[in-house]
Amino acid sequence: MNPTLIAQLRATVGDAHVLTHEDPTADLSAWENDWRKRAQGRALAIVRPGSTAEVAAVVKACAAAGASIVPQGGNTGLVVGSVPDDTGTQVVLSLGRMQAVRSLDAANLTITVEAGCILQNLQTAADNAGFLFPLSLAAEGSCTIGGNLATNAGGTQVVRYGNARDLCLGLEVVTAQGEIWHGLSGLRKDNTGYDLRDLFIGSEGTLGIITAATLKLYPQPAAQLTAWAAVPSLDAAVALLGLAHQQLGAGLTGFEVMGQFALSLVNKHFPALRVPFMAAGAAQAPCYGVLLENSSSESEAHARSRLERLLETAFEQEVVGDAVVAESLAQAQGLWHIRESIPLAQAEEGLNIKHDISIPVSRIPTFCTETDALLKREIPGVRLVNFGHLGDGNLHYNVQAPENGDAATFLRQQEAQVNALVFQQVARFDGSISAEHGVGSLKADKLPEFKDPVALALMRSIKHALDPANLLNPGRVLHPLNPSR
Ligand code: FAD
Repeated sequence: MNPTLIAQLRATVGDAHVLTHEDPTADLSAWENDWRKRAQGRALAIVRPGSTAEVAAVVKACAAAGASIVPQGGNTGLVVGSVPDDTGTQVVLSLGRMQAVRSLDAANLTITVEAGCILQNLQTAADNAGFLFPLSLAAEGSCTIGGNLATNAGGTQVVRYGNARDLCLGLEVVTAQGEIWHGLSGLRKDNTGYDLRDLFIGSEGTLGIITAATLKLYPQPAAQLTAWAAVPSLDAAVALLGLAHQQLGAGLTGFEVMGQFALSLVNKHFPALRVPFMAAGAAQAPCYGVLLENSSSESEAHARSRLERLLETAFEQEVVGDAVVAESLAQAQGLWHIRESIPLAQAEEGLNIKHDISIPVSRIPTFCTETDALLKREIPGVRLVNFGHLGDGNLHYNVQAPENGDAATFLRQQEAQVNALVFQQVARFDGSISAEHGVGSLKADKLPEFKDPVALALMRSIKHALDPANLLNPGRVLHPLNPSR
């Protein structure tokens, strides 16, 4: 406990917005435990400022007291980056109260919001004004735009609109010294030196605290059509992606792939969802489901005819075995719901090891064939749950414990080996060990092995220049135990 700091924090943000374990009635678990329940921290305090000025004052107070800060948005991150460690010395700075939409500039196609704005509310604000904010991911009902930017989130529409970085024009940031950088530019061109915005995006709260952002808006499409195709192999899925790029052009707004075993878990745990083309007992059949989305600025008829023509070509080339085009919005949402239910079905099946990797699209089929065989050879009985944003070369290549085995024991005994095998394969195929979830503390110790040493040294220099006291989210992204590596 640090009574002076706590008193200062209370004076800054108000008693109601500082929670500590001193108060026996306060429940801090929502801020201290991560989404996957893999980490349970203990905070000195949870502080919930209501304005940028309050964030700056909180940072100054913590800096003076030498207390490190863990910025937190919706706490949906998957790499243990948003929860405190277990020392009871860290302050969790939650942006959850800062949710305002500050302005919308229709002619400039931009919206400016505070960092704690829930992604879904941001989408709705854009929609209400007749625009599209295209960032979309399964956690959108809980995650915040600050967290999305801090992790450079991806999601389902990256193939057309890019990731969070591509959607951001300007930032407002509180630095590690408690100063405010007013960088809320709505400019699409600004070559006046180093790009500070891009430095903070994807820095996972280690360089500064994002308090607001100016983001790009797009015209709403006149129609969005969704299709589900059964394809015989990953090679066929990649071929279908190539055809979709050729025939749909900028209309291609989503391209997801789902392995048969991943779909069989949805079928098993959520049978009401009715996975298309899912034959009973086909859990290990060598085929994949592909979810395709085609958007049109013209009309639904236009979107439908182009999608149907694409599928006809794919049938002719024997790239697709079977396909269905959603007839209504409800049907389309149902198909997307199946895709988004895979992580939940996996959780129902038991503890598992997650990998969020990217590989050049052209090399994904060989990567999977080789890595599947390697894992099955080294760890007999292992079950592979493979799905992801194929359009972006991003796979969630997850590993489920052998059936009837104890998953906790499997994780304890095999996780390190599984990770080593998968990450070495990723490196062999010129991929990345984190495509969209970030590094957090889960992968911080892996970075020295898989990141270019010059890049890593530059990252350390930047961290030291911006946060010399290592106050902001220490130990995340850059591992503290091996400073020389
Ligand atoms: P948090 O979890 O609170 O924080 C994440 C990181 O950002 C932490 O390091 C934290 O310190 C830092 N941070 C948070 N807010 C700020 C801020 N204002 N300033 C500075 N640093 C900050 N991710 C994808 O990219 N694509 C997906 O498709 C996807 N699907 C998901 C599906 C599910 C079911 C779940 C649970 C998660 C999924 N994620 C996905 C991961 C997660 O939702 C994203 O990483 C999201 O961007 C995190 O936002 P958040 O507000 O919850 O951030």
